[in-house]
Amino acid sequence: MTRPDKSARPDKANPETLGFATQANHVGNPVGEESEVIQTPIFMGNSYALPCDPLVIDWSGADTPVYTRYSSANQVALQHRIAVLEGGDDAVVLASGVAALHGLFFSTLKTGDHAVISDTTYGAVWRMFAELFPAKYGIEGTFVDTSDPDAVRAALRSNTKLIFTETIANPTTRVADVQSLADIAHEHGALLCVDSTFTPPPLYRPLDDGADCVVQSLTKYINGHGDAMGGAVIGRSDLIREIKTDAMIEVGGTISPFNAWLIQRGSVTLPLRLARHQENAQQIAAFLDSHPEVAYVYYPGLPSHPGHELAKRQFRGRGYGAMLAFAVKGDSDTQNRFVSNLRLITPAVSLGHDETLILHTTNEGPRVAYYPQPFKDYGHLRLSVGLEDADDLIADLETALDLI
Ligand SMILES: *Cc1c(COP(=O)(O)O)cnc(C)c1O
Repeated sequence: MTRPDKSARPDKANPETLGFATQANHVGNPVGEESEVIQTPIFMGNSYALPCDPLVIDWSGADTPVYTRYSSANQVALQHRIAVLEGGDDAVVLASGVAALHGLFFSTLKTGDHAVISDTTYGAVWRMFAELFPAKYGIEGTFVDTSDPDAVRAALRSNTKLIFTETIANPTTRVADVQSLADIAHEHGALLCVDSTFTPPPLYRPLDDGADCVVQSLTKYINGHGDAMGGAVIGRSDLIREIKTDAMIEVGGTISPFNAWLIQRGSVTLPLRLARHQENAQQIAAFLDSHPEVAYVYYPGLPSHPGHELAKRQFRGRGYGAMLAFAVKGDSDTQNRFVSNLRLITPAVSLGHDETLILHTTNEGPRVAYYPQPFKDYGHLRLSVGLEDADDLIADLETALDLI
């Protein structure tokens, strides 16, 4: 995404005049008043000076600096940047991606409501709708294949308030058609909210295709360095305001100023990193796909992927992310042996880090019922392709394959 309006003078006080990489660099940094510093400092304080008569301030809102649970200077700066990068009116930043997901559900759903949820979804979302919300709050969820518009339509009820999906599903890499889902939700008077952690901007901005809000685990690509945790919900001001006043202030999943600062720092290089992540992922997917000992590879950038054409159109040719799923031919022990043969790639949870991570998940738990058949036959290895030299990564994979 380059400069939107070539005739406008680029001005860092006015983000609409800037291209994506410039926005990621400048938005949320001081523009030069008050202090001479040109980067946002870390504001490690939990309270802010009040006027002599504290009754003149609005204690219900997140706009007045009162207490860091109501918002901190670093959180506000990061929210500004994330909102601009996702193309939303506003953003709320919380302590983790799961705090952001919980904040979204807590604010948009109440007892008696129903939600349609992707049957292939992050573990915490699964458990919220399979167990916690129905038992504790009387909120029902139906799990469906959100890549099938007819299945989504069939799952709607008169009390359905929300459709929720991941853009590229964790861990199967199934691709959802955001525009069709937005149309279905809006015809029904429901919201479409989308977890876009696998497809951060500038790869994709679901708000452009009609989603009402977007969730990002900032822990992943947007921070990108495997250190801080954070999460964000981005969207219309009225929705975000509700999450701030209800879920942030009263439930308290506040991000620390230090983590907000780290994420803001990491996000500067997001467009550069994403380009490299994707280039490496495409090469590794091609290598694995051609290897006789590899049972299957799921990566939306491979023409054989069932969501390839949709991904190409939906992501406007900007890429396919850098998450892939595969397995080597053999049983669960064979997968473990393969992982133990790696010398460069690290076995770990999380994703979107600078370094390449691999995770072997065995076929346990209720979500496995929704996995594609090859996942059920072999299990799967989730690979988060990092920023190393692709040749080194391929050599590590090739050697580990030879050794089994
Ligand atoms: C990691 C992840 C989350 C949760 O984010 P945390 O920052 O770990 O709380 C949610 N959705 C997806 C797709 C993720 O990969």
